[in-house]
Amino acid sequence: MPIKPFQAESKHLLDLMINSIYTHKEIFLRELISNASDAIDKLYYKALSEENTGLSRDDFMIHIVPDKEKRTLTITDNGCGMTREEMEANLGTIAKSGSLDFKNEFEKKPDIEIIGQFGVGFYSAFMVSDHVTVISRAFGSEDTYRWESHGAEGYTVEPCEKRETNGTDIIVEIKPDTEDEKYSDYLETHTLQNLVKKYSDYIRYPIRMNVEKSRLKEGSKDEYESYTEEDTLNSMVPLWRKNKNEIKKEEYNQFYKAKFMDYEDPARVIHMYTEGIATFHALMFIPARAPYDFYTKEYEKGLQLYSNGVLIMDRCADLVPDYFSFVRGLVDSQDLSLNISREMLQHDRRLKLIAGRLEKKIQSELESMLKNEREAYEKFFQNFGLQLKYGVYQDFGAHKDLLKDLLLFHTSQDEKYSTLAEYVTRMKEDQKYIYYACGESTAKIALLPQTEAVKDHGYEVLYLTDPIDEFAVRVLQKYQDKEFKSVSADDLDLETEEEKKESAKKVEENKDMLAFLKDALNGKVKAVVLSNKLKTHPVCLSTSGAISMEMEKVLNSLPNADKEKVQAQRVLEINASHPVFQKLVDLYAADQGKLKTYASLLYTQALLIEGAPIEDPVAFSNQICSLMTE
Ligand code: ADP
Repeated sequence: MPIKPFQAESKHLLDLMINSIYTHKEIFLRELISNASDAIDKLYYKALSEENTGLSRDDFMIHIVPDKEKRTLTITDNGCGMTREEMEANLGTIAKSGSLDFKNEFEKKPDIEIIGQFGVGFYSAFMVSDHVTVISRAFGSEDTYRWESHGAEGYTVEPCEKRETNGTDIIVEIKPDTEDEKYSDYLETHTLQNLVKKYSDYIRYPIRMNVEKSRLKEGSKDEYESYTEEDTLNSMVPLWRKNKNEIKKEEYNQFYKAKFMDYEDPARVIHMYTEGIATFHALMFIPARAPYDFYTKEYEKGLQLYSNGVLIMDRCADLVPDYFSFVRGLVDSQDLSLNISREMLQHDRRLKLIAGRLEKKIQSELESMLKNEREAYEKFFQNFGLQLKYGVYQDFGAHKDLLKDLLLFHTSQDEKYSTLAEYVTRMKEDQKYIYYACGESTAKIALLPQTEAVKDHGYEVLYLTDPIDEFAVRVLQKYQDKEFKSVSADDLDLETEEEKKESAKKVEENKDMLAFLKDALNGKVKAVVLSNKLKTHPVCLSTSGAISMEMEKVLNSLPNADKEKVQAQRVLEINASHPVFQKLVDLYAADQGKLKTYASLLYTQALLIEGAPIEDPVAFSNQICSLMTE
């Protein structure tokens, strides 16, 4: 029998499994049982959606047979089975993206412990075995085939003695014990019982195994005899259909980790049952950290959708909005038809109702977490806050009311996160606006000259550090009737009437000089003005109109940004109380040529402070040098 090589990707994965030092090798059993259950699901689905299949739900089951003498563990199912071609395609190549993702991720970060995050499936058998045999007969076929592999070398497929019914036997020859690993445990009844309870209890088909028991000998009072009896090892009631009060936290955690391939317990479990127009069970989880691909295009949102206990869709995207895409979990409703197609589901009224209920529930759970478990919520926000902020911005602000109280920001007050409501309660009596400033980090924002006067008034400033932040804040427009205002806006309106008069006078006195500076900057700025936001710094930039400097940066960095770059309307603000200002006044009278150079220097400094690219660094450097050598 010629040995066929594994497809390259598979071989690599297999090598990883064979040489694995993964500490939870026991998960191979969970993986094989889950494959068996999937195979039965496929057939059961057929039985429900087609007529005259002759299949009955009660016949479906999975058997586990340990054989200590042969050192084999066999997992048998009467599911859909595989044809010869399917065996080649499914077992010789990496069929499922879960395994491929694991392999790719492992190559980036060779840490075998991440295996738990991925559905590595069938190949996990090679963690405990050097010899795996699969015997399978596809439903509706007369032929049975044997697939066999001794590991990374390759595999063989050949016809074999006919299996009695459709289905599959996976025969795993358990490795000899080593110093570190007692593989023989996987042949022990009690180990297998425990593993099934631990990982596969909710599997909806009976998992059966012969269990040795003892009983009093007939007619005897003290003599015992042993006998074997087939036991069902799993309780089969799906966790989500059990009563909340009967479920231990550990059970939820175990379920979540096994089903959604995470190695950390979830941050929050949301278990609900609703009756009425839409009757459904939902079991949802908020992960403790963002999955490795969460912020990539590869991440698919969605909940598993069950119709009365039968899985009909693995990731039903319509059940959760984008801003809650981090929620993993499932929905089981008896109202949905099994045969419903994806297209029909999208327009299904009940599905929309369910999605609406879930959205409200997730929101209220997050609010309660924010209120009662602040630390946990802040951790959650670090992971997924970005998604909520995108949600505010999305669809022209259609969801802002739902999300605005879930947002957290850093502020000038202290290191801690603050909600908008908390900011508002701290607002000064005479404070009109919710002020915000944008920058790369809170440390950098704290140094921005534009924040000086605002802080000087004792007003708190929101520090926006994510590119999306300002867009979200602009969409919000107001919070509790308080308008948001950028500290870089050209109309901060901070002065008293008295001060306003004073400035107007100053502007009037210097208007020719300011106009001269503007002309000297040759269209780079919309205006040069005397600043009311600076205290100790000589200059800064502010912007007039809808686009801020920060937004300009973000918009121009988008991959599909137009060739024509977006430009914020810049206003150069000069601090009239700074010694530099007097110098400008003097030069205006004495040396206008030099004033031109000063105008350009001040503008470039303002750009530098802003973290914006300067137009001609060489010219800037030359100008400084010529000043230094004067
Ligand atoms: P996954 O289960 O993630 O798809 P696996 O590597 O575990 O990946 O299995 C690959 C494929 O082999 C499965 O998708 C399925 O088509 C097939 N398979 C595995 N076990 C069985 C089984 N017991 N019965 C029928 N098909 C199976």
